[in-house]
Amino acid sequence: MNIQKIILALGLAGISIAARADFPEKAVTLVVPFAAGGPSDKIARDVAEALRKPLGQAVIVENTTGAGGTIGTAKVARAAADGYTLLVHHIGMATAPALYKELSYTVPDDFEFLGLINEAPSTLIGRPTLAANSFGELRKWIIENNNKVNLANAGVGSASHLCGLMLQSALGVNMTTVPYKGTAPAMIDLMGGQVDLMCEQATNAVTQIEAKKVKAYAVTSAQRLKLPSMAEVPTLAESGLANFNVTVWHGLYAPRGTPSDVIAKLNTALRSALKNPDLIRRQEALGLTIINDERLEPAGHKKYVTAEMDRWAKVIRDSGQQPN
Ligand code: ASP
Repeated sequence: MNIQKIILALGLAGISIAARADFPEKAVTLVVPFAAGGPSDKIARDVAEALRKPLGQAVIVENTTGAGGTIGTAKVARAAADGYTLLVHHIGMATAPALYKELSYTVPDDFEFLGLINEAPSTLIGRPTLAANSFGELRKWIIENNNKVNLANAGVGSASHLCGLMLQSALGVNMTTVPYKGTAPAMIDLMGGQVDLMCEQATNAVTQIEAKKVKAYAVTSAQRLKLPSMAEVPTLAESGLANFNVTVWHGLYAPRGTPSDVIAKLNTALRSALKNPDLIRRQEALGLTIINDERLEPAGHKKYVTAEMDRWAKVIRDSGQQPN
């Protein structure tokens, strides 16, 4: 390399370091792989709002939907690794690799882990016109109507899909699954009586349960929700489905190769966002728990998702579900 080239190379490196020191210099986009108005979208919008101040830039939420969240996830895997295109995603990050034969991305290798955001309990809810008034009555009706009950979900690999898989294998029945681009559009059909049942995260379910627009049959997580309106709703484990536990976590990701100083800035901004009183108030009012342990560190987040991949791969195998 001649001296001019060396100077040029040093100059370019200097420019890029200086540019990164100023990160972010423009708006940051959070890709949500599910429909607007659903649980992932609500969480991403809360985080986007709370990130605005620590990042000093606008944070835009973009819904790229389809295929149980894998289309939006693939988009971020292919995006420029500069910290300006990030992904807010849930357990689908850990389940899709066991559910799809040909994913265009690899977990964990194609991503940088920026921190786990929260854990969300989930519920089993039904259309308001269902006659059953308890999980016991619902269970009887489902078994009597084997193969005829319609179960909505947000696509293969979504939280509602996994919960539905586990429910069918626990009850020893088959239901007709009806996939949507997110549980927000599915909720509209459930309230309207076009579908019978859905597993839905508290994030989206609690408001509709309180408004009596849907019937609450059970909490799918290990503990009842600590909200007054949900105190009487039993867990599925208490209702006879031993060890049933679907709890949904969400995390923040960047494409592989994002520079480590940008990752550190984004992690610091996320930590600050998760202390935002408005975010805490909104998320806690819906029964969500904000993460404040080693999973908020990039290394801890990656370790957790990797362990979740193994756990879910076994659940998926045991349920008999074949990869798509
Ligand atoms: N997270 C999805 C959504 O926001 C729901 C799901 O995974 O079941 O629509």
